[in-house]
Amino acid sequence: MPKKVLFIMSDTGGGHRAAAEAIRDAMFEKYGADSIEAELLDVYRQMNYPGNKMPDFYPWVINNAQMGWALAYRLTDNPARSRLASRMTYRLNRARLRQMVLDHPADVVCCVHSLLGQPSMSAYQSFGQRPPWVTVVTDLVTTPYFWYDRRVDRCLVPSQEAYERGLECGLTPSQLRVTGLPVHPNFNRRLTDKATARRELGWNPDITTILMVAGGDGMGPMLETTEQILAKRPDVQVVVICGRNKALKEKIEAAGHRSVITYGFVTNMPQFMAAADVLVTKAGPATISEACIAGLPLILSGAIPGQEDGNVRLVVENDAGAFAPAPDKVAETVAQWLSDGKQALEERAERARKIARPDAVWEIAEEVWQAAHQSAVSIDRRAKM
Ligand code: UDP
Repeated sequence: MPKKVLFIMSDTGGGHRAAAEAIRDAMFEKYGADSIEAELLDVYRQMNYPGNKMPDFYPWVINNAQMGWALAYRLTDNPARSRLASRMTYRLNRARLRQMVLDHPADVVCCVHSLLGQPSMSAYQSFGQRPPWVTVVTDLVTTPYFWYDRRVDRCLVPSQEAYERGLECGLTPSQLRVTGLPVHPNFNRRLTDKATARRELGWNPDITTILMVAGGDGMGPMLETTEQILAKRPDVQVVVICGRNKALKEKIEAAGHRSVITYGFVTNMPQFMAAADVLVTKAGPATISEACIAGLPLILSGAIPGQEDGNVRLVVENDAGAFAPAPDKVAETVAQWLSDGKQALEERAERARKIARPDAVWEIAEEVWQAAHQSAVSIDRRAKM
């Protein structure tokens, strides 16, 4: 009988789906596709209004209401308040989340979303027993407290700081393990040399290429940043990945710059990262982890306040890149890096490679697989979040 693996995630941003697919595909590869039945469940979609609209609202919120998002993050950035907020989410959606548990039987639950873990766990805990549970924390450094639920069986974290925060929330060392962030196994394999990747993508092989990507939803002032870069360095080409943001793609295309190439949501990120010389991106954890594996120096053009601040620190402290939180600052940094010369850029790339953890996904796959073979957990109703 194949093992049923249920991934608790949501299409808010691109990182949760990317993490779930990475773990799922590593499991398929390691243990055989016939041995596993995997389901990626967008838990927000299971909730009552307005929770069920969260995947639709999220890009708007991140683009237009960052201050509000930052405020909500600060208000809940402590163990007790994050638990209170999770409890409220559960109460408001209790019937639907309990139905979700009944509709999606599983041998193991793997949670890759900070805000959905505790309310979903509460739904599972309301029955007599539940499947083993593995949380995979997909924020890199300043991991929101929402991630840490004392009731889970395993909590796999990407960094020592994330581990310490788990202890602070009352998880035990036997629950916690530092693995790194899961990046798809194919990512590594699809990385080719620069010339091959450029030829395959049909780009000019000889021009310095700046790749811009801002999460799965194409957030932030990408057109302004492109224009400022070209104003400072008209000799480069800029490749902009707009993700799911169709309006952004149209806007950039309408601007009609000759040395700009735009894409919508791409499914061959390793090829793009292999082909580029410099990456300009918001501080998304998945994109940073991928760029480090690809050895691509990063200019971080922005960070979601609170949850992505630590990602900036990781990149800057390891000298793998720079923080330039405005279009003119990005352009200045690009100009500076290019005038520093090829050798300096290669050194930055090397430092990015040093913080990469390409094997994390295999360790996580093994953890989930082992958990799938454990028996169902009897519920201790007194167990605390
Ligand atoms: N991504 C992709 N195609 C795109 C844009 C983004 O595959 O066109 C992927 C990207 O490689 C990364 C994820 O989406 O794996 C974005 O995750 P990140 O944590 O960087 O940001 P989020 O979108 O979650 O805020």
